[in-house]
Amino acid sequence: MPRVLLVAATTGYQTRAFADAARQLGLDLALATDRCHVLEDPWGDHAIPVRFDDPLASRDVLLAAGPFDAVVAVADRPTLVAALAAEALCIPYNSPASVAVCHDKYLARQRFQAAGLPVPKFFRVPINASPIDTAHRAPFPCVLKPLGLSASRGVIRANNVAEFEEAFVRIRALLGSADVAMMREEQNRYIQVESFLDGREFALEGLVTAGELQALAIFDKPDPLDGPFFEETIYVTPSRESPATQQALAGSAGRAVRALGLTHGPIHAELRLQGGNVWVLEVAARPIGGLCARTLQFDGGVSLEELILRHALGEDVSHVRLSHSASGVMMIPIPNGGGIYRGVEGLQQASAIADVEDVIITAKEGQKILPLPEGASYLGFIFARAGSPARVEHALREAHACLRFDIATVLPVMRR
Ligand code: ADP
Repeated sequence: MPRVLLVAATTGYQTRAFADAARQLGLDLALATDRCHVLEDPWGDHAIPVRFDDPLASRDVLLAAGPFDAVVAVADRPTLVAALAAEALCIPYNSPASVAVCHDKYLARQRFQAAGLPVPKFFRVPINASPIDTAHRAPFPCVLKPLGLSASRGVIRANNVAEFEEAFVRIRALLGSADVAMMREEQNRYIQVESFLDGREFALEGLVTAGELQALAIFDKPDPLDGPFFEETIYVTPSRESPATQQALAGSAGRAVRALGLTHGPIHAELRLQGGNVWVLEVAARPIGGLCARTLQFDGGVSLEELILRHALGEDVSHVRLSHSASGVMMIPIPNGGGIYRGVEGLQQASAIADVEDVIITAKEGQKILPLPEGASYLGFIFARAGSPARVEHALREAHACLRFDIATVLPVMRR
């Protein structure tokens, strides 16, 4: 029975989806994750304990736990440990250097620039730099961002010096917070400044084989993402753009993959289209996150997780196509500054909307819900599938309109 190593940041929905796919394919899936390293098996799931802040030691732990026939990583941080293990085991996967570049927005921009891809004006400064001096170098409107976080965490648009200073101080505080400091990543000591790229945004899901990108799906993001924060909401596939535009999007993503040196495995890219020009915002060396992969169903009812596992084991999946129906997801945004989640009404009505497949609330009662830019979670997900992308989008919006969230405001603690 082939043995696949899955390196994951959490043991959430996505890990379970891989476990299900592995079971169906008759594979032995070994999970490696970074949690409490004091206890042997704190979650009772036999996960191999690794530490993302010590990739070389983690590679050795994985080698001792081997052998493996294939490696898959979900989320950004696990990619380096996965790449080191794959390199030592001579398993086809991205090189450690290429995934490290993907996990650093400054290095990635430099690679794109060197490869002749269009890039916004960009520079980085250490977090202890003067916000006002930095603001005077900024190309307004601009975007400030951390180099190594994901899901738009800490990404803020600034239109003038005052907004810039406020954003800078806010990102500095985020990067100094306990959970970010715990990652012990060099790139978290910097803030990047980029000129703001106007235009519509798309996501592309793909598989890379021997450095060549196979685009699996292009998602339209119909809601404008103009800032000041960049909360994802609706993703719909197939794209409603013309075949020529879709080809241009896929072509740019393919050039970005080559510029980064990625060679084998899933990628998730974010792109912007301005005039006829495609700008690659970033390419992550991992599949789409959370539950969103559920939107992708391939011919014969094949899931994205199954496809990734088969590809990791060396199967030629270049003939696999998305099934004909249109589908989409809404990542349910956090209303009004967040607070303590108390519940939701209207779930039944939302689920009953035509073309809605599922409404899943992931927030737990009593949980503190922190919106962007400091937080990085959603209240849940709405899924729809229909005959056309327009119907999918309509169903998602109708279902969302049925939901009424009860979120209690958290009063700030008064200090004397
Ligand atoms: P993350 O890895 O945290 O998702 P990104 O760099 O992809 O960070 O930025 C998150 C979102 O912020 C993007 O999807 C996009 O909507 C917006 N964004 C980032 N950089 C720019 C830019 N230079 N111009 C316009 N929008 C941007």
